[in-house]
Amino acid sequence: MTKQQQLKISEIGHWIGGTVVNGSGEKQPVYNPATGEVVAQLSLADKAIVEQAIAAAEAAFPAWRDTPPSKRAQVMFRFKALLEQHSERIVAAITQQHGKVLHDAAGELARGIEVVDFACGAPQLLKGEHSKNVGPGIDSWNEQQPLGVVAGITPFNFPAMVPMWMFPMAIVCGNCFVLKPSERDPGPALILAELLTAAGLPDGVFNVVNGDREAVETLLHDPRVQAISFVGSTPVAESIYRTGTANGKRVQALGGAKNHAVVMPDADLDNAVSALMGAAYGSCGERCMAISVAVAVGDEVADQLVAKLKQQLAVLKVGPGNDNSNDMGPLITAEHLAKVRKYVDIGVAEGAELTVDGRGLKVPEHAKGFFLGGCLFDKVTPDMRIYKEEIFGPVLCVVRVHSQQEAMELIDRHEYGNGTCIFTRDGEAARYFSDRIKVGMVGVNVPLPVPVASHSFGGWKRSLFGDLYAYGPDAVRFYTRRKTITQRWPSSSVREGAKFSFP
Ligand code: NAD
Repeated sequence: MTKQQQLKISEIGHWIGGTVVNGSGEKQPVYNPATGEVVAQLSLADKAIVEQAIAAAEAAFPAWRDTPPSKRAQVMFRFKALLEQHSERIVAAITQQHGKVLHDAAGELARGIEVVDFACGAPQLLKGEHSKNVGPGIDSWNEQQPLGVVAGITPFNFPAMVPMWMFPMAIVCGNCFVLKPSERDPGPALILAELLTAAGLPDGVFNVVNGDREAVETLLHDPRVQAISFVGSTPVAESIYRTGTANGKRVQALGGAKNHAVVMPDADLDNAVSALMGAAYGSCGERCMAISVAVAVGDEVADQLVAKLKQQLAVLKVGPGNDNSNDMGPLITAEHLAKVRKYVDIGVAEGAELTVDGRGLKVPEHAKGFFLGGCLFDKVTPDMRIYKEEIFGPVLCVVRVHSQQEAMELIDRHEYGNGTCIFTRDGEAARYFSDRIKVGMVGVNVPLPVPVASHSFGGWKRSLFGDLYAYGPDAVRFYTRRKTITQRWPSSSVREGAKFSFP
């Protein structure tokens, strides 16, 4: 590495109490996945740093809790304007550290901003329910009170959007937040922290600690942390849910996925193929809502589907994310690239037909980038590991079935239940599918049915541990606790005797 390159490498620390805090902990490199170069050294938070962040959040809580929701919302309005003003910078940071193409990073930011938009409605969202005269001269109402210090732990694949699924709603509900972003692309979260402070958020209400398992363990065991929102892989989600709840915390832990798209014989195949291309290979397949299994109903549909996907894969443009003409960028790290390639090898060994092999892809001038071309497997069967396990890469598996019923039974048997969709022109088939399928988010001719910010996001089965979904109305329930107050003002001129029966 030349001296000039060394000088470009910045150190990434933490954001605590409204300012940057440089940790003295172990360092970990952050890469640009398109070039394979180290772009920053991340300082991993030790227990002391995480405790400092929790203390800052706890100190900020009493005043923030008492700040009227309308004033909290005003911070969000200003934050939203700043996000739009600084969008190019945020999008560039996402692309630099995650690798996704700029247009895709802009989409991620836009979906995050939607949640901020929804959070601006805090005064309306936090309105309680009031009942007058529940008894003689007695009124009763509910209030949603904030929990206190709450934490978010987020994955690498949406370094701006997934944090924004959590903290805007947590904050407008009156909580103070500690975010632990992915150590693989931590940059965008620190820009969000800076903009929140610029929007007038009091110091300590939002904090970022960068780190790995040690930071997470500290959050899980500290009694000052009241609730944890987690998004990431299923094994970690399950473990965080178990430890967090055992420690008396409220936990929502969103996990992995294997999303199936059913292609019915009457589907508009050309449009279904276009939709599948974007949903399977967009963001290099590193989306929890990516379609990784296409279930073709009938061999005729399957043959046509595979042929058309092959044609589209031949023109899929793979390259660095900072070239907006590309469709797909690199995978996140060299380790993840090796893992996904291994799955392709496994699929071949298991006897699936590798119709398109992306392993030979070479991206000019990016020999050290973590690139893999789009891969397509046909004749995949449910016993294969490439069907059962989440690959999280640009690999689409086609499974052939004979009927809609068989397709639905297949999906219902899978351990994950995040998203699914059906391509059909038959309203009755679509309605039956959306009504019965054991999956949390369903699309009808919509390949990525990610709910908008005014709804909530969550899967079924082993894709979600906990009861409440992310963002939307569920976020108000998750980040508040209900208090019910019953009140009367008896006249001092009336003498009342004691009553011993239950009122
Ligand atoms: P990951 O589980 O490896 O990491 C997620 C977070 O947990 C990171 O902040 C990481 O530092 C931390 N972590 C990792 N291992 C840990 C451990 N042993 N103990 C404590 N903390 C740990 O996930 P990832 O690779 O960053 O993200 C990809 C995964 O996230 C995929 O499985 C994807 O499906 C899932 N995901 C799910 C959703 C959803 O809404 N269901 C959304 C996005 C991503």
